[in-house]
Amino acid sequence: MKAVPTRVPAIIVHGGAGADPSEAPEFRQGVRAAALAGWRVLAAGGAALDAVEAAVRALEDDPRFNAGRGSVLTRDGTIETDASIMEGDRLQCGAVAALPGVVANPITVARKVLESRRHVLLVGDGALAFSRSVGVAECDPESLVTDRQRKRHAELARKQTPTGGGTVGAVALDRAGTIAAATSTGGTAGKLPGRVGDSALIGCGTYADSSLGGVSCTGDGEAIIRVVLGHRALRFLKDADPDYTAKVAVDLLVEEGGGQGGLILIDWRGRPGFATSTRLMPVAVMSPALDDPRVPF
Ligand code: ASP
Repeated sequence: MKAVPTRVPAIIVHGGAGADPSEAPEFRQGVRAAALAGWRVLAAGGAALDAVEAAVRALEDDPRFNAGRGSVLTRDGTIETDASIMEGDRLQCGAVAALPGVVANPITVARKVLESRRHVLLVGDGALAFSRSVGVAECDPESLVTDRQRKRHAELARKQTPTGGGTVGAVALDRAGTIAAATSTGGTAGKLPGRVGDSALIGCGTYADSSLGGVSCTGDGEAIIRVVLGHRALRFLKDADPDYTAKVAVDLLVEEGGGQGGLILIDWRGRPGFATSTRLMPVAVMSPALDDPRVPF
C-alpha cells in the first residue's frame, strides 16, 4: 500500500495590502487570531481546505478587515463581495463574485461552489440563489456595514478614486501534503456595482497546486488580473525560495501590471513567504516550530 505522505503543517494569513502603518496594532490581533483558527484545524490533523476556510471566516467576522463584515461600499453604497478557494491535489476550486451583501461569510459560499463540482464561479443574484439553496446563513445587510466604511464612502464620493485595502487570505499545508488557498474581499471602495476583482478569480487572486504551493494575493485587482499574478507566482516558486518568489512576483505586479499589492505563499515543503510593495500588509504565520503565531510586521 502506498504510504500517505506526512508533512509538517503550516499556515500563513494576510489582512490585505494598503493599510496605514498607524493601524498595525489593530491588525496584528486580527491576523493572529485567524492564524490560530486555521492552525487548530491543522494541529488536529484536519484538512488544509478546512484550515483556510476557518482562517478566512475569522477575518470576515472581524470588522477591521475589508471582507464579510467591514467590507467597503460600492459607488451606490451597497456591499458586493468576492471570494475564492482552491484545493491543490485535484485543482478543485470554487468562487463567488459580486455576491450581494447579505452573506457574512462569502468564503463558505465559495467552498460550497467547490463542493458542488458543477461550476467554478457564480456571480451576483445567481450566486445568492445558490447560497440560499445550500443553506448558507444570511444576515441583515446593515449588520455588515461599519461606521468606518460609511465614513470612507462619504469621503470617496467627493474624490471618485476607488481604493482597496483590508482584503483577507490564507494558505495552508496539511499533514497529508495537500495545499489549499483562499481569498475574500469587499473589493475596492467606490467600485461600480458589478465590478469583479482578482479575489474571485482562480489563477489571479488565489491558486493552489499541491506539487508546487499555494498563493493568495491582495492589492490593485485590475493589475493583478492583467498579469495573472497567483498562477505566475507559483511558477516562479518552482526555482526559488518562497520569500524571494514573493518578491519577484510583486515586482512583476508593479512593473508589468502597473499596480501595487502583495501576496502570501506556502511551498510544497511548507515554507511560507510573503512580500508587498505597499507600506503595510498584515501577515501571521503558524507552524509546529512556533509556540504562538509569528506576526512579522
Ligand atoms: N484585490 C482586491 C480587489 O481588487 C482589493 C485588495 O486586495 O485590497 O478587489
